Amino acid sequence: MGNDARKIIIIGSGCAGLTAAIYAARANLAPLVVDGYEPGGQLTLTTMVENFPGFPEGILGPELTERMRRQAERFGAEFHPGSVTAVDLRHRPFTVEVGPRAFRCQSLIIASGASARLLGLPNERRLMGHGVSTCATCDGYFFRDRQVVVVGGGDTAMEEAIFLTRFARQVTVVHRRNEFRASKIMLERARKNEKIRFVTPAVVVDVLDAEKGVVERVRIRNVATGEESWLAADGLFVAIGHEPNTKIFQGQLEMDPAGYIITRNGTRTSVPGVFAAGDVQDTRYRQAVTAAGSGCMAAIDAEKFLEEHHDS
Ligand code: NDP
Repeated sequence: MGNDARKIIIIGSGCAGLTAAIYAARANLAPLVVDGYEPGGQLTLTTMVENFPGFPEGILGPELTERMRRQAERFGAEFHPGSVTAVDLRHRPFTVEVGPRAFRCQSLIIASGASARLLGLPNERRLMGHGVSTCATCDGYFFRDRQVVVVGGGDTAMEEAIFLTRFARQVTVVHRRNEFRASKIMLERARKNEKIRFVTPAVVVDVLDAEKGVVERVRIRNVATGEESWLAADGLFVAIGHEPNTKIFQGQLEMDPAGYIITRNGTRTSVPGVFAAGDVQDTRYRQAVTAAGSGCMAAIDAEKFLEEHHDS
């Protein structure tokens, strides 16, 4: 057992990772938190959070994570910038590489979250933040009296479309099938909204104008006929689901077909000593408060594991 190994490393600094850090730090485990490429996680992409208990007036997402971070630091959590590039979970102590740096740890909490899926169009990337968005809550405000396109047929797409009608003049939902994955109630709510219209079965094949740095129109293809046409649009909201950030763990941990880490009996993964919390293992709730809750569970599970293995 290497003496240089830390008791615990936490991968990810969203709600789950930060809550795990608070609990692990207060249990005297001196956690090292690897920030990840999106420090603060998905909450930093939102504006007002109104459903996190304890904040009756709401709190800004970035402020909420900043407060959690300060709380973790106060009890001795250490933060390391950057993303994890490789892990070795075959034996303990585990190895966690962040670029050229390699850390070793007796237990590991994975809270690397999930990221918004993109369509994969070159201009989508170039216009990201310039009219293309994956977060209506964050960017809806910029589209007052404008027309926007929402891509997707799930609950997120419906929710984003409905939310955008608070600002936009018209919202067009483009979905690749005539049937919707969204729940009936959300779909009904969207259908009843006069500002929302549906274009199906259709896919977005391009978004212009990357040269000008603004969204002006969106090219769509009717999937049934193959016919292509332009839709005037000031914004394109991509709401086609999320991808768990688990590539570096592939082949080392049990995952579901979509790549989410499977947890059993609390936050335990298929490797003893490795725990997972938050959106990286949650396909159902995906809330800030449930991520925080599972982060707490992971820290307690890790603490018990270390105790049982006389590593604490
Ligand atoms: P989903 O996976 O449910 O839906 C993704 C949608 O995007 C599907 O309609 C899918 O089409 C479409 N899609 C996927 N990839 C592409 C692509 N490359 N091009 C075009 N379209 C694509 O993800 P959501 O984020 O909507 O929801 C995730 C989970 O979160 C669900 O369980 C949902 O119920 C839940 N949720 C609940 C909410 C609530 O209750 N208030 C709000 C938001 C989410 P297809 O159907 O053809 O596969």
